[in-house]
Amino acid sequence: MSEGILAKKTRKIIAIAEKIRAPEWLLGELLTPKRVIIMKVRARIGGKPTFLSAIRVHHLNPYPTGANPYKGGIRFHPGVTQELLTVLAMDMTEKCALAGLPFGGAKGGIAFDPAQATELELRRITEGMTFEMLKENIPHPDIDVPGPDVGTDSRVMFWMLNKSAESVYWRAVPNHLATVTGKPLQNGGIPGREEATARGALIQLGRYFELSKMRAADDAPTLAIQGFGNVGRNVVRLVHEETDFRQYKIVAVSDVRSGIYNKTGLNLPSITRWYEDRGSFLGCPDCDPISNEVLLTLPVDVLIPAAIEEQITPTNASYLQGRLILEGANEAITQDAFPILAHRGIPVIPGVAANSGGVTVSYFEWLKNRGDRPHEVDAERDKLWVTKELGAIMRGVIEKVYARSEALSSSMPDAASIIAMETIQSQLKKKHSYPNA
Ligand code: NAD
Repeated sequence: MSEGILAKKTRKIIAIAEKIRAPEWLLGELLTPKRVIIMKVRARIGGKPTFLSAIRVHHLNPYPTGANPYKGGIRFHPGVTQELLTVLAMDMTEKCALAGLPFGGAKGGIAFDPAQATELELRRITEGMTFEMLKENIPHPDIDVPGPDVGTDSRVMFWMLNKSAESVYWRAVPNHLATVTGKPLQNGGIPGREEATARGALIQLGRYFELSKMRAADDAPTLAIQGFGNVGRNVVRLVHEETDFRQYKIVAVSDVRSGIYNKTGLNLPSITRWYEDRGSFLGCPDCDPISNEVLLTLPVDVLIPAAIEEQITPTNASYLQGRLILEGANEAITQDAFPILAHRGIPVIPGVAANSGGVTVSYFEWLKNRGDRPHEVDAERDKLWVTKELGAIMRGVIEKVYARSEALSSSMPDAASIIAMETIQSQLKKKHSYPNA
């Protein structure tokens, strides 16, 4: 039997801990999720009654709880398991430490395909999960703040907020809007959250090009993007709309069922309109159909896996032709594929850095909802503020990861994990009076 994703992640954590000579207590903290809540949700999917298992994992919070909550998305996808959510919660801990956000790492979800459910069924499932979580006093602005992830969006976040609002009187929740992030603008959301992950990834990509002096193989750097959801679609939109990102040429995109390729560059408004009208790239004019497998192996400057985990494995890592990988999706590259990419000299901007823009803007939203930042009525001004702050944090992340990888002659994924682990160690030492060794 092949090694599972959690076993691989555990091996990676142990290897990094050895590199920094981490004390045993730190390893114990990193390998032990602090709370796993499993809930049964009564549901209907396509009219058929069923029971679903909803899971919420709290991995590790190195910051004073009661002020700094656990943070992590809610995923609705058939591939959800407790094991996967544990790994994704571990990634959240690492990501927040790397970006300097005072949150612990969490993740939650339900294994089902939201495309099979009607909107009302989806709403009832979200409310059912929220109802069960409320019995554990979460979601809560100071304890656990969920956000969107694969298969969920601002609509789902609104349903969660709305359901948990029923409990504010008996739970005495302060600043209730700060209970979840990724909300619609008119319900306490913040301008720029929707595109935050994509923007953060593109900012880091641009800074990486400058730092490494990497040059495109041809004229403009070419990009291939797997996944056309929140992350992938917003990368496409920003490359089309914003001067700062127009230097890139997107040659391929895909979703779970369909993909397209045009080596001279896709017509971005036209493919987006086609997808919005039909929900698929099938039949899209002026481009060739392409499978997800082939997309990953295209000869491009930058490959952006932005769909789900375990897409780049030891099997395809040995022949993919991207010159750089920007890991948009969490765990898109399996731990055993990293050494192959390193051996082949293909640099990787790891997911814990590359996709940290989403949780960073969620942090701004949470701060604003808690009243720690004045509520702005001017959305344009808010957006400018978000974009500027996000830019500074994202550049800081890639700069420190790049500098550390140069200093240690190590890969960027290892450098990112080392920085995060050191940060977590120093926070936990303060929090629990751990010894020095
Ligand atoms: P999404 O649900 O909006 O979109 C996912 C996309 O991936 C869809 O286009 C879907 O068709 C495609 N997809 C699903 N299964 C696939 C498969 N087996 N093969 C190929 N494509 C597949 O999700 P998203 O929010 O864009 O998230 C994508 C990744 O980015 C996830 O790993 C998520 O954890 C990560 N991420 C998202 C955010 C965010 O703010 N949304 C933040 C940080 C990280």
